Amino acid sequence: MIGHFINGTFCEGTSGNTAEVYNPTTGKKTNNVTLANKEELDTAVASAKQAFPAWSSTPPLRRARLLFKFKMLLEDRIDELAEIISNEHGKVFSDAKGEVTRGMEVVEFACGIPHLLKSAFTENVGTGVDSHSMRQALGVVAGITPFNFPAMVPMWMFPLALACGNTFILKPSERDPSAALWMANLLKECGLPDGVFNVLNGDKEVVNELLEHPDIAAISFVGSTPIAEHIYKIGTAHGKRVQALGGAKNHLVVMPDADLDQVCDALMGAAYGSAGERCMAISVAVCVGDDVADRLNIKLKDALSKLKIGPSLDETSEMGPLVTKDHLNKVKGYVNLGVEEGAELLVDGRTVTIDGHEDGFFMGGCLFDRVTPEMRIYKEEIFGPVLSVVRCQSFDEAVDLINAHEFANGTCIFTRDGDAARTFSSFIQVGMVGVNVPIPVPMAFHSFGGWKRSLFGDHSVHGEEGMRFYTRLKTVTTRWPTGIRSGADFIMPTMK
Ligand code: NAD
Repeated sequence: MIGHFINGTFCEGTSGNTAEVYNPTTGKKTNNVTLANKEELDTAVASAKQAFPAWSSTPPLRRARLLFKFKMLLEDRIDELAEIISNEHGKVFSDAKGEVTRGMEVVEFACGIPHLLKSAFTENVGTGVDSHSMRQALGVVAGITPFNFPAMVPMWMFPLALACGNTFILKPSERDPSAALWMANLLKECGLPDGVFNVLNGDKEVVNELLEHPDIAAISFVGSTPIAEHIYKIGTAHGKRVQALGGAKNHLVVMPDADLDQVCDALMGAAYGSAGERCMAISVAVCVGDDVADRLNIKLKDALSKLKIGPSLDETSEMGPLVTKDHLNKVKGYVNLGVEEGAELLVDGRTVTIDGHEDGFFMGGCLFDRVTPEMRIYKEEIFGPVLSVVRCQSFDEAVDLINAHEFANGTCIFTRDGDAARTFSSFIQVGMVGVNVPIPVPMAFHSFGGWKRSLFGDHSVHGEEGMRFYTRLKTVTTRWPTGIRSGADFIMPTMK
């Protein structure tokens, strides 16, 4: 049974409710995960609340040193964590290692917290009066994370939250909960005080309790858009600071002057890597001109026929299975829908199975052409290895198409024309933009976040935005009495 990590101790759940955890490669159930109830949430929050005063007043440099130790251990044991991820999520081992590396970069960034927390001081804001500002931790903060990055997305949150002096409750996805507990163990090994970091496994029941809990100051959420919106609405209505990152439909614009071999390589990795289960996956190729679409399709069909689909831990696999049987059926359902809606299915991966793993949650990469903006397969997030080609007749039409979509997480343009690239970067209404870069995920020292219905709230994650989210500003104005007495002043203080 996969349990919780509360107040520095691993414990079995007491709610009696559980969910099943599968290995997507074999399709077999490997474990059960316990689902927390309100009492367990109260215990975790109470331990985090108790740990807060000492942790928030620990010098930032000491907090950074602990995180540095975490990073060193993580680097040494990356294979262990990557294997856990592959076995529960299904992504191939090399990709799982890539995920851990990207998460580790946020830990590296968080190690610079003494510098990040330095703030402004002004001498003589008035005669003999000085002002300084400081950023202070919020208190107990929570992270609710999706299945598709069971290590990286939690690491978008807790390293910076802890570095800023908060204590943390992580509620991982119930579909792949083990990575979070493994990281909790590593933090304990590094000497993190009890209660500073807690893992509470569970489903929507505990999330809904968490949203209303009076002792939780802020919530970071990453997941699908309907849930992100719900988290934002209910969390903020209960006085919490909330950043809620949602779903995506990321477009890659192919200009007539683009190198189509480069575009094809980029699309193969960005659309089918991690079986399309990435919030920054490219799911729409917008070809400017029919000729571009025709030539690109030939290349994509050829590349898809060579895509190596196989077990997650097989080193030769390029694409593994999907996360669960339900999700596999949902994605195949979208492919059926696309056919019904009249899109042209150029490559059909629905019947692909893997020898020796017939029960695994595998499907092949799918490619649709002549997808149009009214179709549901265009409007909705599929979150699987399905790429849609949309044909446009001009650059402006491509930009308008993207700007009209409700999601606005990432996008990119492939071109050799600097003017087109610059105009695209300036006018596209999307949070993360690539120029000849298919998956423009910002590095840890920049911030990650979409626009429109891909992010609810005012702050992106990590980078300086992350530090601001996990702290609040206080400004102190100081005068040391000099013995001069000027009498009571009843007007608004102004500089004399
Ligand atoms: P999800 O929304 O189903 O679940 C996310 C979290 O919310 C999980 O911890 C889950 O237990 C909880 N949850 C699920 N239903 C809930 C409900 N009704 N009430 C309260 N909590 C609930 O997402 P998922 O399927 O795990 O992950 C895939 C989604 O996440 C995709 O939409 C993807 O685009 C998105 N995602 C977005 C980003 C981003 O940065 N914008 C990054 C990764 C994933």
